Amino acid sequence: MAIDVLAGKVSAGGRLSADEALELYLEAPTHVLGRLAHDVRGRKHPDRTVTYIIDRNVNYTNVCVARCSFCAFYRPVGSTDGYALGFDEIFRKIEETIELGGGQLLLQGGHNPDLPIEWYEDLFRAVKARYPGFKLHALSSPEVLHISRLSQVSVPEVIRRLVAAGLDSIPGGGAEILVDRVRKLLHCYSKASSDEWLDVMRHAHRAGLRTTATMMYGSVETPAERIEHMMRLRDLQDETGGFTAFIAWSYQPDHTELRGFEATGVEYLRTLALARLVLDNIDNLQASWVTQGGKVGQLSLSYGANDMGSVMIEENVVRAAGAAYCMDEVEIVRNIEDAGYVPRRRNMHYEILGEPVFRERDIPRVLELATARADGETSIPVELINYPARSRAERDRRHAS
Ligand code: SF4
Repeated sequence: MAIDVLAGKVSAGGRLSADEALELYLEAPTHVLGRLAHDVRGRKHPDRTVTYIIDRNVNYTNVCVARCSFCAFYRPVGSTDGYALGFDEIFRKIEETIELGGGQLLLQGGHNPDLPIEWYEDLFRAVKARYPGFKLHALSSPEVLHISRLSQVSVPEVIRRLVAAGLDSIPGGGAEILVDRVRKLLHCYSKASSDEWLDVMRHAHRAGLRTTATMMYGSVETPAERIEHMMRLRDLQDETGGFTAFIAWSYQPDHTELRGFEATGVEYLRTLALARLVLDNIDNLQASWVTQGGKVGQLSLSYGANDMGSVMIEENVVRAAGAAYCMDEVEIVRNIEDAGYVPRRRNMHYEILGEPVFRERDIPRVLELATARADGETSIPVELINYPARSRAERDRRHAS
């Protein structure tokens, strides 16, 4: 089909098939893809608002048995660089987040075999007891699956227990590409197959949780497989309506086992624009400036994105693979306004919370990303002694401490 026919279909509000999406992705000039995506975004969000959230990305542990080949963040069980944060360290991070006007943690980590479900429940309860109203956007789909397998508790029951303890919503991490051929090549099939990733999200949506959805592109997948990923998300969204937003980011190759090259800025913008056209039932698309940098992040607002994601206070995962972009609220707002939009703070449900905090009161600037722990910090949190460790290495370490 000619590109102008497909463009006409999109402009008329028609839904693209996988074949049509692939043709547009491969053949349409970048400015055409951008214009179509920008128009669709304008229909969904007719005002000039661009949203962002103030939260903190906290990685509670880097110990992981999944060992995905694209990941530079994890450490194997027994590694001297392995850590699990203590509850007090997490409380301190929450207090710093609140000081900056934030109200949520994005809490994710490795698949640590020495943290049973009770550890998560106790942490969530303790957070809610100390900081009522503070939100926990926590544990990606594969982490929920890992806790389910480790604790021999079904996925719906894990979700029920975590929600009872204080879980508010689930981030869309760990999706990578939802095609099992790709997942096997990336060594992430065993942590969660495509169906398993989607099934955790299905259970979460049925339990009343809202979640996001992500895509890590640019590793070993084909363009058709990127579209298959989007189609699977679109199908689940038709079924449950539980996704609030979609975030695409490019594979970051430094220090990974897989190596290779990072996708270019144009490839990112084309992929983002295509996602806006295919995912006609997901309202919000985030600009992934964390992997693309602020300048491409700002351009994303003309390629379908209507949200600048999170003010970055702390980041460990992408930085481990070579990208360390930092934008605080002042910088995010400057980029939004310079692109001709009106910045508004939001929560995870995309409800508007208000004007930028720094215009209401003095808050500290964040010019450098925080890390999970200071270099050389290897202390073992005191409360870990209350939980059984599965690995011999961790049992010995806890005993020795
Ligand atoms: S991407 Fe997540 S699950 Fe995979 S090795 Fe890294 S920390 Fe573990």
